[in-house]
Amino acid sequence: MLPQDGHVHSQFSWDAIAGGDMHATCARAVAIGLRSLAFTEHVDLTPWALHGRDLPAHYTGRVDEHGRFLAQPLAIAAYLEEVDRCRRAFPALRILSGVELSEPHRHPGAVPGLLAAAGLAGTGGLDRVIGSVHALDDVPTGGRHTDAAGFVEVVDGYLQRAPVDVVVAYLEEVTALAGSDADFAVLGHIDYPLRSWPEAAGPVPWPALEEAFRVALGALASSGRALEVNTRLPLSPRVVTWWHEAGGQAVVFGSDAHRPDDLAHDFVETAAMVQAHGFRPGAVPHEFWGRA
Ligand SMILES: [Zn+2]
Ligand SMILES: [Zn+2]
Repeated sequence: MLPQDGHVHSQFSWDAIAGGDMHATCARAVAIGLRSLAFTEHVDLTPWALHGRDLPAHYTGRVDEHGRFLAQPLAIAAYLEEVDRCRRAFPALRILSGVELSEPHRHPGAVPGLLAAAGLAGTGGLDRVIGSVHALDDVPTGGRHTDAAGFVEVVDGYLQRAPVDVVVAYLEEVTALAGSDADFAVLGHIDYPLRSWPEAAGPVPWPALEEAFRVALGALASSGRALEVNTRLPLSPRVVTWWHEAGGQAVVFGSDAHRPDDLAHDFVETAAMVQAHGFRPGAVPHEFWGRA
C-alpha cells in the first residue's frame, strides 16, 4: 500500500497556478491507489532579492520597490472551499487540508493573521502544517541585517557561496526553524538545496555535510516534530539513518507535486528504503510512519 502523500500543491499555490489542479490530483490519487493526500499550499512570507535577474515564468507575485519578489498570498478561503468540494467528490479518499509555511520562525504573528482571515483560530484548524526553508541570507546586502533585501531563494544562494556552504547555511536555517516554537508539525524537504546542486561541483560531499545534517535532525527530533522524506530527489538513505540515530519518532512522505502527474512520485521505492532504515507504516494511511 502506498503511504500518504503528505506534500502536494494545487492551483492555490503561487508557483502552481498554471499546472496545479486539485480535482484532477484527487482523480489521479484514486487511479493509482493512493488512499490519502494533503494539499499543503505555499505560504511564503519571505521576500527574495532578485538582483535584477528575471523571474522564472511560473512565479506569480509582485516585485517590490527594493527589487524583491513577493509571492502571491494564499487565497485560503477559496482553497478551503475547493478542499470541501473535492472531499464530497472523492469520499473514499482521505483529503487533508494544510499549508507549507516558508521560514515561519522569521515571521511570528503573520501566520495567525492569515488563518484568522479564513475564520480559523490557528493552524489547529488545518490538518497538516509543514515548515520549510526556501531562503538564505543574501550575502551582498548583509543578509537579514538590512531592510532592503535580506534573503535570496536557495537556488540563487549558489551564486553567492561555495556549494558546500550553501547546504551548510541551509541546514543552519533548518536548525533555527526546528528549534523555534513556530506552529508546524513536519519539516519539509531537508535536502532542498541538493535539488540545485551544481553539476560542475561533482558528487555531493556527504562527509563534509554530515555534522550539519545531524545537528538539524537532532534539533528536529528534540522538538517532537516529524521528518518529511521528499521524493522530488531520491533522499540519501543515510539521512534516514541519521534521523533514526537522532531519536526521530516519525516520518512522512511527500512528492511535492505541483501537477497531478507527479503525485506519489517514486513512493514504492522510497517506502521500501525508509522501511529498511528503521521505520514502519502507521495503522492507517493518513498517520505518520513510526519507529520500527
Ligand atoms: Zn518547499
Ligand atoms: Zn512544496
